[in-house]
Amino acid sequence: MRIVDLRSDTVTSPTADMRRAMAVAEVGDDVYGEDPTVNALEELAASMVGKEAAVFLPSGTMANQAAVLTHTARGDEIIVEHDAHIYWYEAGGLALLAGVQVWPLAGRRGVLDPQAVTAAVRPANIHFPRTSLVCLENTHNRAGGAVWPLDRWDAVTAAVHAAGCAVHLDGARIFNAAVALGVPAARTAAGCDSVMFCLSKGLGAPVGSILAGPREWVQRARRARKVLGGAMRQAGVIAAAGLIALRDMVDRLAEDHEHARRLAAALADLPGIAVRPEEVDTNMVMLETGPAAAGFCSALAARGVKAGFMDAHRVRLVTHKDVSREDVDYAAAAIAAVARESRSA
Ligand SMILES: *Cc1c(COP(=O)(O)O)cnc(C)c1O
Repeated sequence: MRIVDLRSDTVTSPTADMRRAMAVAEVGDDVYGEDPTVNALEELAASMVGKEAAVFLPSGTMANQAAVLTHTARGDEIIVEHDAHIYWYEAGGLALLAGVQVWPLAGRRGVLDPQAVTAAVRPANIHFPRTSLVCLENTHNRAGGAVWPLDRWDAVTAAVHAAGCAVHLDGARIFNAAVALGVPAARTAAGCDSVMFCLSKGLGAPVGSILAGPREWVQRARRARKVLGGAMRQAGVIAAAGLIALRDMVDRLAEDHEHARRLAAALADLPGIAVRPEEVDTNMVMLETGPAAAGFCSALAARGVKAGFMDAHRVRLVTHKDVSREDVDYAAAAIAAVARESRSA
């Protein structure tokens, strides 16, 4: 049976080029700053997102948490969109590690309103926590890979700075956003103080994320990485794959987006499930299944299609480099069969 894994783009395997580069990578002790491959990756990564400097970390979660630790003091408040990854999926790290409290704001498909952000920043008052940071997410995961329109992005980042706070961009899939908008990633990160992105998702590297920002700030973020236990030694072995991810794997994301649109179009008129093809901005398709999402996923798994359980009502399908056009068509047929079966059951 064909297996099509649409749970996430994190399931991608390193390419043959990555494996070769990893085998021959020049390495040194990165805690001493002496791994030439890590240094090359950090330099390229910083330039691609238009920042002065960058630091390589084991995961996106650690990079986000290191960013919050570096931007805030204990007892501060940070503003997040209420469906943000940093709020839902990072195991309470904001409270546990940085000791900040969170003001979640409702967005529309992950995108915030500048007036709402300004209104949520606390005025100076002895009773109030200090608002120091706003975390934004692009593409937005729980919103189904939604992309921030550039004019809205500029308006919100300007409003945050006018209110005296910093902006951290959780750009785990920033290159998907950039490819969808047809602009360099540096444009989508313009106006934020720091940005995190993952090498290990659609770009296909086995491990690793980047945190970028001003040079002096990144120096402090290195200390946060150290305290979190994320400073690695001969990390050039994995950084070598990250370099290939940035050099060779960005432009092809357009193919994943095309596959997601193809999948959504094929599922648009099925009984019992709702799909909105007009909301497929990048490499994700959300299926609204009614209260049957868990059963829907297991029925799909029995047909060789692995889908992501989002919540009781929603299933997430993610396209990536290890999913071909034939796989997409196979998955669409399997989903249609399951939808019809559940309808007649
Ligand atoms: C995957 C993801 C992360 C975390 O990355 P990990 O490497 O899995 O820790 C953070 N933010 C968003 C939006 C993500 O999709």
